[in-house]
Amino acid sequence: MCVAVRDSCAPLLLCHGLSWPDSLDCDRFPADEDMCLASLSKEYKHIHKELPKPICQTCPAVEEFFTQKRVLDVFCANNFAMASGTALIYDDEMTSCKLLWDDPECDIEVPERLLSSYEQLKHYHLVERCIHVPVREGTEEEIMLVHSSEYLEVVKSTQTMNEEELRRVSENYDAVYFHPNTYRCAKLAVGATLQLVDSVISGKVHNGMALVRILIVDWDVHHGQGIQYVFEEDPSVLYYSWHRYEHQQFWPLLRESDYDAVGQGKGKGFNLNVPWNKVGMGNSDYLAAFFHVLLPVAFEFVPELILVSSGYDSGIGDPEGQMNATPECFAHLTHFLMQLANGRVCAVLEGGYHLKSLSESVCMTVKTLLRDPLPQISGEMAPCLSAVESIQNVRAAHKPYWKCLMYEEATPLHNLSTKSQQMMEAELIQTSTHPTAKQAVGTTNSDEAIKTDRFLESHMKKILFPVPPVKTAAAIVSKADAHLLPISVQVEMEMNAQELKTLVSAFDAELVKEEKALLSLQNVLAVLDKILKKKVCNGIAESSVASVSTTFALKHCFDFGLQRVLCIVVGDMDLELDLDDGKILLMNICQKQQTEKTNSKYHISLNWKEDAGRNNFFCAVLGFILPVAYSYQPDLMIIVIGPNRSLGVNAISLLTCLLQGLAESRILVVIQDTEIKLVQSVAKALSGVSTPDFGAYAPASQENVFEIKQLKDQLQQEWKMLRCSVKDWISGS
Ligand SMILES: [Zn+2]
Repeated sequence: MCVAVRDSCAPLLLCHGLSWPDSLDCDRFPADEDMCLASLSKEYKHIHKELPKPICQTCPAVEEFFTQKRVLDVFCANNFAMASGTALIYDDEMTSCKLLWDDPECDIEVPERLLSSYEQLKHYHLVERCIHVPVREGTEEEIMLVHSSEYLEVVKSTQTMNEEELRRVSENYDAVYFHPNTYRCAKLAVGATLQLVDSVISGKVHNGMALVRILIVDWDVHHGQGIQYVFEEDPSVLYYSWHRYEHQQFWPLLRESDYDAVGQGKGKGFNLNVPWNKVGMGNSDYLAAFFHVLLPVAFEFVPELILVSSGYDSGIGDPEGQMNATPECFAHLTHFLMQLANGRVCAVLEGGYHLKSLSESVCMTVKTLLRDPLPQISGEMAPCLSAVESIQNVRAAHKPYWKCLMYEEATPLHNLSTKSQQMMEAELIQTSTHPTAKQAVGTTNSDEAIKTDRFLESHMKKILFPVPPVKTAAAIVSKADAHLLPISVQVEMEMNAQELKTLVSAFDAELVKEEKALLSLQNVLAVLDKILKKKVCNGIAESSVASVSTTFALKHCFDFGLQRVLCIVVGDMDLELDLDDGKILLMNICQKQQTEKTNSKYHISLNWKEDAGRNNFFCAVLGFILPVAYSYQPDLMIIVIGPNRSLGVNAISLLTCLLQGLAESRILVVIQDTEIKLVQSVAKALSGVSTPDFGAYAPASQENVFEIKQLKDQLQQEWKMLRCSVKDWISGS
């Protein structure tokens, strides 16, 4: 019992800048939760007369935590799935390595990369919101887990070398340089990474207990061939990398960076390579690769920890990657990863050579880890042909290994659209004897860098927005249920009743007579109003007349000036809406077959059969709902939960969590009073203090997969993020 208390209290203490006291040895503790808590409480009163304020805004004061049983119950139930803070590890000493001579291969690797990222984190006041974990040196033993002792000795020997000697050693390696501080910095980098992993898993896992499944997401623009080699036979590590490949013409020029390197032996299926065969990949290409490759596989894999090889040379303006993803794209990628492994995500900085692009992208990642709402993603939401080709190939290559790809019909493509063009260009470079050609490229690069600087300057101003002071508001009629809500939720009850009566009578005079219906409408509008005025981020409202309330809510949205509202109805409900102008995209998820209705761009019915006890909704959310929603780019989302729903609590939590990347996380959930038992789970998903349990993974049935396939065929021309095979692309273009 005491171990459980330690595990649940440690994250809270961490958030207050406190650690579990050494004097409280768990083994000697009484096996009684109350006594254990009492001892801990006493210990802390003794040590700290004034307890420091929490770093996150949602956790209660430590004292309050120990004295209020109700708070404890609610807090434990809702928040202890993960540690409540975000750790940041940075040390000035890491910037002490630099290139001492001229080498065009290495001159982008500068200490300013770290400095500018850290400066930008300070600029956005993100540093003070993180928990600082001191850096330590990695031991030789730790380094030799992946490196040979010979290599270790070489690097070690560079500490005392002069410039000439350093230069000579460096020449033995590909795109590597040494500095007398390299060894020290490398040891710090290893130590820092291990410290980070330790602090992220310490809330949940005891020392010495091995994790069973780890997902490594390598969004750096270079292939992590080293990681691939280390884990390619290991089914406990799923390695995902996208990288500039260009038909093996880009560094590291390896055949095994292609999509068909799926892993070896027992590790087959656990190596996911997404090769980019052209430059210029952007937000929609990256998101499509997440929706159609990484996320379905990752949810099936069920990782316990996620490590991100967090390189930003895949971002806009980077001279290495030459890709187009804007900084907020990394917020969205991070957001999706946080829905896995109970939110235990460790991001470790890798590449990124355009300083402004790098530092803004780093900040976007950290903001998301701190659970700030996400900026809307910019750009046209349609993956390019070459990206779709790569996605199709990875899906086809991995079909034998993953249930989520079991019914995939597409086969690997051999004649890729980029192949002939790329060959032509290669020839052109080879035959080009013009000496000024290279010079011209250099000049363009620096012009490009300045152009990106200017673009990002105005772009960030456009997409950043003030975070609403309260995350989640709730208006629940059944007062008895209010105590079930996570404590960050504000319960709303006030609104001008007379004003509402007038409003309602114009719409439906009968409703005014119904006290309960009026109260419901009042609830829904009160919460919605707070969302629209950006006083809260999202909210939840109980209603006895959910469909009428939603119709009112939508009208209120357009009166307020919104352009696009995504409305997802779960269950049997008829909404009287005008769906022609595209201001509403209505998606109805229900069980009954609506044979007479055909799907149209703005009115989609998804017939879904739930798998009792498990969650089979992953493929629908990832393969269909998210791509449609991202293509639509709503200003606000309304999720209505009604009777006869074909989705269970796990599927609804999943939907609510994943959709929060859109519309600056502005979501209103309207719950019909008959379904009110869902309120706690939905509030937990909205409040985002932790990642809810989405239930055991169940593969979708053939019937369900077929339903999605049909919808995709009908709608991919309208909603282009649905495309994941070239057949889709050709028929849809
Ligand atoms: Zn890189």
